[in-house]
Amino acid sequence: MRCPADYISQRANAVDASGIRKVFDLAAKMKDPINLSIGLPDFDVPDIAKNAAIEAIRSGHNRYTQTQGIAPLRERLRAQLTGEIGRDVGEVLITSGVSGGLFLSILSTINPGDEAIFLDPYFVMYKHLLTLAGGKAVMVDSYPDFRFRAERVEKAITPNSKLLILNSPSNPTGVVMSDIEVKAAIEIARRHDLLLISDEIYEPFLYGKDAQGDVGGLPSPMKTYDKTILLRGFSKSHAMTGWRLGYAAGPEPIISQMTKLQQYTYVCAPSAMQYAALKAMDVPMKGAVDAYRTKRDIAFSTLSKKFEVVEPTGAFYIFPKAPAGINATDFVAKAIANNVLVIPGNVFSERDTHFRISYATTDERLRQGCEILCSLA
Ligand code: PMP
Repeated sequence: MRCPADYISQRANAVDASGIRKVFDLAAKMKDPINLSIGLPDFDVPDIAKNAAIEAIRSGHNRYTQTQGIAPLRERLRAQLTGEIGRDVGEVLITSGVSGGLFLSILSTINPGDEAIFLDPYFVMYKHLLTLAGGKAVMVDSYPDFRFRAERVEKAITPNSKLLILNSPSNPTGVVMSDIEVKAAIEIARRHDLLLISDEIYEPFLYGKDAQGDVGGLPSPMKTYDKTILLRGFSKSHAMTGWRLGYAAGPEPIISQMTKLQQYTYVCAPSAMQYAALKAMDVPMKGAVDAYRTKRDIAFSTLSKKFEVVEPTGAFYIFPKAPAGINATDFVAKAIANNVLVIPGNVFSERDTHFRISYATTDERLRQGCEILCSLA
């Protein structure tokens, strides 16, 4: 006779989420921790968007929308992206978060045995989604500075390589790819005929400055490589992680397959939230980005006194190296024993040498947390 566990598919069993679970188990015992583990902004959804969501629900936008999303939101995003990218980005599909876009793009393109290349450290979902799709995750070590190195990526190419997944600004390192790195990635993609998936969910959170002091736009492969699937969303930019809204743009044959698969999985992104996102696009988020630049400065200036750490120029993460003689898991256990919750690097990496801090918290808690971490180093 089968017990319930015997019904679990090999596919589900192949996804190993034990690293993060151990952290959550430890965290569950903490009372009022200084929580530097959360991957979402500490500000709330702008009021304009909240009111628009309530209004949308009241006015009856409570049914399925078209699978691809409501026309006014898709048109607005298409126009905005086309302006920024400098060429028509084609159809836009509204997804259930960027997670939805990742799931659909990987499922639409990966056959069993196909390989997808991405830098290590990486956003955890890439590895697990590739496992679910029967593909192979090929991780390219980017330590110690987390930069894109063409020669390392070249070495990972095989006849089965199909996708190159880029994530800039990066979770968990906060590194933003330069124009030169994006160009190098495109050259590799062209040479080996790869599809690029560009996960740009942290796009508005950019802190770098050029010689004129301008932050400038995000270098995106979408600008020059037409075999790019661009994934962005509202989760981080507008603090709507629970609203489940993202979008995908790219070549029509792929977006239309993603749309077909969305029809039989998510059906559509949440209806009222799509109307609210349209309003949210009117709200300038520069204030939030400036506030996060200050938090980045607090975290980097404090932590760099005691830790080997790369200065992040985007997103809201920083990824310092654990002190010599201790692995990241043990160092994180020590931090948790001292009431500071951070995530060990082995959740995002094949190495267990670094740990991830999210600085999306109040300046005061951040300062306190970083000082405690320094005292443990
Ligand atoms: N990509 C990256 C790099 C992320 O960090 C996250 C969320 N932590 C996602 C995608 C998924 O975002 P969403 O909540 O919009 O599904």
